Amino acid sequence: MHVVVVGGGVIGTTSAHALLEAGHEVTVVDRGRDGDGVATNVNAGLISPGHALAWASPAMLARLPAVLSNRTPQLRVRAHFDPHLVRWGMSFVRNCTAGRARRTSLLRAELGERSRVLLDRMIAEFAIDCGRAEGMLFVHTSDAALSQQFAAMQVLRDDGHDLRAVDRDGCLRLEPALAGADLAIAGAIHHPTGFTADSAAFTAALGRICREQGARLVSADVTGFESRGEQVVALVTDRGRIPADAVVVAGGVHTAALLGRSGRRLRLYPVAGLGLTWDGVPEELAPRLGGIDETNLVAWSRADGRLRVTGIAEFNRFSTRVHPADLHQVTQGAYRLFPWLTSLGRPRVGVGFRPMTADGLPKIGHWRGNVFVNAGHANLGWTMACGAAELLAASVAGQADGPLATAFAP
Ligand SMILES: Cc1cc2nc3c(=O)[nH]c(=O)nc-3n(C[C@H](O)[C@H](O)[C@H](O)COP(=O)(O)OP(=O)(O)OC[C@H]3O[C@@H](n4cnc5c(N)ncnc54)[C@H](O)[C@@H]3O)c2cc1C
Repeated sequence: MHVVVVGGGVIGTTSAHALLEAGHEVTVVDRGRDGDGVATNVNAGLISPGHALAWASPAMLARLPAVLSNRTPQLRVRAHFDPHLVRWGMSFVRNCTAGRARRTSLLRAELGERSRVLLDRMIAEFAIDCGRAEGMLFVHTSDAALSQQFAAMQVLRDDGHDLRAVDRDGCLRLEPALAGADLAIAGAIHHPTGFTADSAAFTAALGRICREQGARLVSADVTGFESRGEQVVALVTDRGRIPADAVVVAGGVHTAALLGRSGRRLRLYPVAGLGLTWDGVPEELAPRLGGIDETNLVAWSRADGRLRVTGIAEFNRFSTRVHPADLHQVTQGAYRLFPWLTSLGRPRVGVGFRPMTADGLPKIGHWRGNVFVNAGHANLGWTMACGAAELLAASVAGQADGPLATAFAP
């Protein structure tokens, strides 16, 4: 069967690989436009099942008044008069119950953990050079905040995820590069089984492997589907039509617009974030582990000679404009963690969209007719990619069963 995958980000490319392994003929179509908010290219690089706590939660509900009145510099709502955001927001609020937050967190962590194992296996099997580094830290500047996050993570610890609270000395022993941080570090949560790696490097390498295994990679903008009844017979692109026996839509945050043409709606909101990259990071100063400064909400990871620092969650439709205040926020966050970065000059700046569903769960599986979807992985798409691809391939084969397949079914 010829399966055409729309989207060559980490979700589309891992899907393509899983479909090739299942014996399909595969074509991947990606428009590869710069400045399109491709999340795969700017993310923090954390493979972190232990950071799977749902965004929609009672704690987030309590923060909403501050968010909506623009008092949270890391979390910005700029599109106040966006009807799509209002509908998405109402649905998000309905998911902020303790029961739903618990369920979402456990499901995301389970898929993340399965995915982590698969990703590790693929990196080793294909010798993919993507700067893999073991372990991560969630750093806190107050004992109270550390205890609070550790308590919130109880649900994941009870489920077998290895998350350990360490004091300041323990944190600096694990990551000596934080000794010079301009932060009053109180301690951290250590996630030893999590790891960091460069998702863009991995995706590019896996794309090459897919091509060697027979996939066609096409550079084109998919503008619609040519259908006969429920069945899509071809993709319409700016470079002509591409016939298909089945279609997988894995276009990140643009997935909703493509599927929207088919009658049903997928509710996704683009939550923009900034990714700053410094090149030429001296080996003796670079951090060994990735992590998150939970006070300033900036995440970091190192891959080869580069340091990536990310931050900001902005709700502003599909705007990829970089607001100076946001850039300042993330840059200062990076300098606080690693003051020596000031000597490296300005970083490269990218914007990416986290494809957020209102219930926090990715949508993986059958959509309608011969159309399948793999999208909506929000802030955890790099972590969940390989597991999501496995579920997607099972769905295309008509073999999707079990609790995860049911929970993530669109
Ligand atoms: C700042 C930031 C930090 C993050 N940090 C982490 C992290 O540390 N760990 C983690 O697990 N996750 C993280 N994420 C989330 C993760 O990056 C995303 O969930 C993941 O990359 C989504 O991948 P994707 O392939 O679905 O989307 P994308 O990477 O956005 O790729 C979508 C692709 O589809 C293509 N496309 C879309 N529409 C069309 C069309 N019509 N025709 C042709 N091509 C099309 C685009 O060109 C693009 O290449 C972060 C995200 C951001 C923004």
